Amino acid sequence: MSSEKVISYRCPKSDAVVEHRVDNGGETRQTYQPVVCRACGELHFVHRDTGKLLGHDKD
Ligand SMILES: [Zn+2]
Repeated sequence: MSSEKVISYRCPKSDAVVEHRVDNGGETRQTYQPVVCRACGELHFVHRDTGKLLGHDKD
């Protein structure tokens, strides 16, 4: 059984909304998912449920 989840977040560098597909199973499930940003190419840590970025807590 494979379950995938799409999280979307706003890239703080390019201000673009990026969607990222993550695996929802496995034991390495983390609250903040490290993703390589498609917009700026850097690594962001995105909250799996809220899409908020670690270290960018403004709304
Ligand atoms: Zn980015």
